This record gives sequence, C-alpha cells and structure tokens, in this order.
Amino acid sequence: MVSDAPASLTDPSPTPLAFGEQILVLADRLAEWSEQPTGLTCTYLSQPHRAVATQLRDWMRVSGMSVQTDAVANVVGRYASDDPAAKTLIVGSHYDTVRNAGNYDGRLGIIAGMVVIDHLHRAGRRLPFHVELIAFSEEEGVRFSKPFIGSSPVAGRFDPAILELRDAAGFRLGDLMREVGLDPDGIPALKRDPANLLGYLELHIEQGPVLLEENLPVGIVSAINGAVRQVITVTGTAGHAGTVPMTMRHDAATAAAEMVLVVERRCVATPALVGTVGQLAVPSGAINVIPGRCQLSLDIRAGDDATRDMALADIHAEIGRIAVRRGVSVEHQETLRMPAVACAPRLRELLSGAVARAGVRPFSLTSGAGHDAMMFHGITDIGMLFVRCGNGGISHNPLETVTTEDADVAARVLLDTLINMSGR
Ligand SMILES: [Zn+2]
Repeated sequence: MVSDAPASLTDPSPTPLAFGEQILVLADRLAEWSEQPTGLTCTYLSQPHRAVATQLRDWMRVSGMSVQTDAVANVVGRYASDDPAAKTLIVGSHYDTVRNAGNYDGRLGIIAGMVVIDHLHRAGRRLPFHVELIAFSEEEGVRFSKPFIGSSPVAGRFDPAILELRDAAGFRLGDLMREVGLDPDGIPALKRDPANLLGYLELHIEQGPVLLEENLPVGIVSAINGAVRQVITVTGTAGHAGTVPMTMRHDAATAAAEMVLVVERRCVATPALVGTVGQLAVPSGAINVIPGRCQLSLDIRAGDDATRDMALADIHAEIGRIAVRRGVSVEHQETLRMPAVACAPRLRELLSGAVARAGVRPFSLTSGAGHDAMMFHGITDIGMLFVRCGNGGISHNPLETVTTEDADVAARVLLDTLINMSGR
C-alpha cells in the first residue's frame, strides 16, 4: 500500500522536469490501490476507490487547498483567490478506472492540476479567480453501466433515476452510497451556479495515436466528437448452400460486407471523421445456409454534427443502392445520437499561447472519446489539453504510457494557462 502523504509534492528548488517526475511518481502510487492483485482496476465506491479518494484528499491539503469529499465522492480541492467575490475555474478529471486500466487515464489531469497548484501555493502566488480542482469519482460507467456519476451533479445534469441502478452483485447505487457514508440527498446541492463559473479545464491523456504521429507532447482539443450509433438489419433470402446457384442468391451477409466497406471508404475521405462497424452477426446462421439476415452496427463520429450527418446520409444512400442491386431489404434503428461539443475559442487560444510559450507547435485535434468536460458544455466554457499517449496510442490498457518529458510540458502549459487567465 501507499505510504503516508509527503510533506511536499514538489522539490522546493525545482529541477528541470520536476513537474513531470512528480506526476509519474504520484500516478504510480495511486495505481497501487486496485481491485485485482496485478493490474489496475478501481471502480466506483470499491474499497481501493475510497482509498484513492483519501490519498487525493491528503495530497490536495498538502498542496495548499481546502478539501472536501462531496455527496458522490468527488474530491474537491479549493485554491481560493484573495478576492472572495471572484469567479471559479474548475480543473477536473476522474479517478475511477476501467478494468485492467492504464495509470494515467483521468488521474493524469488530477495530478497535473495538483502539482501546478502546489507550485503556486509554495510560491505564495494567488490567482484572480478561485480554482476548484475536482477529482471526479466516476466517469467510466464500469460498475453501474452509467458514466459521469461524478461530474453530472456538479454540472446540474444528474438523473436521480441512476440511484436505482444495481451493479453486477445486485447492490443498489443509492444504498451503496449510504453504506460508505455518502449522502445521496445532498446531490442536488452539488450543482454549481453557472454565473459564478469562469470555465472548465481538463488535461487528459489523448488515448489515441494522433500526437504520437505528429511528434508533439501536447495538443489542444477543438471539440469532443459527437456520435451516432445505429443497428442496420439486412434481410435477404435464406437458402441451401449447395442447391441455389450463385447468380440467384440474395445473400444478406455478402450485402452487409459491401456495406462495411462503404462505411470505411466514406469516412476515410474526410479528416476527423471516423466510422466503425464493430458488430456483424448472422442471426441463427449455419455453415450450410445462405444468410437470410445480417445485422451490423454502425458508430460514426466527427467534431461537428454537420460533417457526421452528411457522411451518414451518403452511407445510407450507398447502402440503399447496394440493397437494390442485390435484392435485399434494409432497415435501420438509431440507438444513440450525441451532439459534438465544441471547446471555447477563448480557452483554445489561451492554451495555444501557453503551448507556444513552452516551445511546442500549437496543434489542434478533436477528441474521439467522451470526457467529463462534455458535462459542462452549455454550463460554462470548456477547454481541454491532450497529452501524448505512448505505445501506439493505446489506452484503457496496462500498456498505456506517458513520458516524464510530456507530463512536464503538459503541467507547464497548465500553469502558464492559469497564470495568463483573467478573472473575468
Ligand atoms: Zn478518462
């Protein structure tokens, strides 16, 4: 288990890479609490999850923040401005993990925020706004199949029906909260007043290969991709694999195969558009039967909804032509439609300036994955900084890596951003 909180988070006379080294050491220490003997699993309100919350609380206190654990187990550190009437900037990310996770997803943003505030605190430097560093308790949706249990109440988007959900072992979420000393009745009060917010900033590992490909330590997120998911059912004519001549078949699976390639072809043609057929099934198929039905899933995402919907329309037009040519019918059912979330130009510019001052070429990219930041869209301005992910960009996996150098650049960019942000 992890030892006691250190007296100081950063070296009093910072050496080059001091931020980066601290961040990696602290992330490794948090990763020692896990639900499995090897590998990192830390799901909502598990014993290791509560231990991580306690450790974060101790570290935030040492870093000069006043700290509270709120009604959904978010750990909230407040670094107050000298001006009590100042607005509040939220800096956040999550401390829960997927099963068999990497050490940096979510936690990198919390720890980077912590070492930066620790640095300000030790330098005796206050900001013209309050900073709330929020370690969100739940983002991944692993235990209760519902993500954003941590950030949604803070953004005023919590759905009380979630309290009725049960985990795989049958525990009801509302009961579990009470059992570990949380107060679900306090959830509505977690909502922040948008009028008091200056914005929301999140630093997160990229979880993809784009920055690696660009050879850049950090990138500025322009938008979080919106997604549409559909299930497409192709119906042809089942028949005997031995007796029906090839020219007389209406094979649902070969039609679907062509459709999969349409998705790939259309999405490859537009940058920042991604389309995936992740499920392909021949219901009650058999080795000696021509497939009469085939089901395929479609997940399509882009940084703006118009680009995504145009691609979707093209894909459906082409699927329709394939269906006519092959004598099959097609139906589709939409299972999810989430709008893209644009990052605020003001925060993007601020981050770009800080990246340039760190000696790095400012580069923008969209986020293919969802993040806590999405919850704050429409509530306050959001900004996100991505940090390069090693090992080909692999994440949600123990092979996820961040280098000391990249973590250091990211923390310096965050510090610069805070210093150059005005209080209005
Ligand atoms: Zn994450």
